[in-house]
Amino acid sequence: MICVLSGGTGGAKFVDGLRQVMPAEDITLVVNTGDDLLWWGLYVSPDIDSITYVLSGMLSRERGWGVKGDTFLCLQAMGQLGEPTWFHTGDRDLAMHLLRSRLLAEGKTLSDATSVISEKLGVKARVLPMSDSRVETRVDTPAGELSFEEYFVQRWYQDPVNSVRFAGASDAEPAPGVIDAIVSADAVLIAPSNPITSIGPILAVPGIREALQRAHGKIAAISPIVGNAPVAGPAGILMAAQGLPCSIAGVAQAYEDFLDVLICDTRDARPAEALRKNGLRVQCTQTIMRSAEDKAALAREVLSCVAPAPRAGREPIHHGVAARHLDPQP
Ligand code: GDP
Repeated sequence: MICVLSGGTGGAKFVDGLRQVMPAEDITLVVNTGDDLLWWGLYVSPDIDSITYVLSGMLSRERGWGVKGDTFLCLQAMGQLGEPTWFHTGDRDLAMHLLRSRLLAEGKTLSDATSVISEKLGVKARVLPMSDSRVETRVDTPAGELSFEEYFVQRWYQDPVNSVRFAGASDAEPAPGVIDAIVSADAVLIAPSNPITSIGPILAVPGIREALQRAHGKIAAISPIVGNAPVAGPAGILMAAQGLPCSIAGVAQAYEDFLDVLICDTRDARPAEALRKNGLRVQCTQTIMRSAEDKAALAREVLSCVAPAPRAGREPIHHGVAARHLDPQP
């Protein structure tokens, strides 16, 4: 079993590749819920939605979020009624939020609701929210403290950022299955997600960092930073606000207490060499995922980095999914 820690868009692209090269049944995802919000009275979990849509083949790859081919009639109608429309939810996407909200109102946990929805959509991978407790990413700016979606979607991440905090994290518990999935996985992969606001909230849940430190499998992170800039979005600004350089060194620093291998882009070959001199294993490869082939190639490369090493002087002994899917089969 491979365990993947993930946010939304960058994470979904990576998972799209992973599902091409290994059985989805063998993937467990631990997904950020720090971006969750109440929208028009509905509980929306943007990162769980993106991961669920990619695994069910429903994701709009053009937008990177929401359902492909969706319409936005309800959004228009809400605008006519004077309701806020800055957070775009498509009509089919709304079905997800309606069902999840109903399940939560009936007393189900977010884990239960996620598992019910996954099953209904034919998702074979196990999708776990990081926690069933509410943990909210709060971005402190000169204009005041904003939720992540207010900062990112409503205000186009134009505000300078003083700091980021995860409200409720210290009282939260990992969702059922999260710790076991991390500790017992053949390998743990940190998706190329925003280290501060996608992976940061997951690591802020008490017990998860410690689980990574004692994980049995190797832990690899794919850098969302290429050539000292994020591929997209505000990761650089947010890393700087948290005292991390916007570079592969900053990504390595964010995960330094548990990371075995950093996967970075070939463009970062020179800083990679500097990190190697400090003792970190770094693998350079093509990490920009534009096509299905790019995604599959990156997933294959990452799995090969975490596959157990063959024992010296014997036939290679392969354990688990990683090796099974990497062996060139006749
Ligand atoms: P969010 O919740 O939508 O912010 O989702 P993520 O945190 O999963 O994704 C955002 C991150 O993905 C950004 O920091 C991007 O730099 C990164 N990203 C997006 N596309 C790619 C890609 O093709 N390659 C790499 N290496 N990173 C990417």
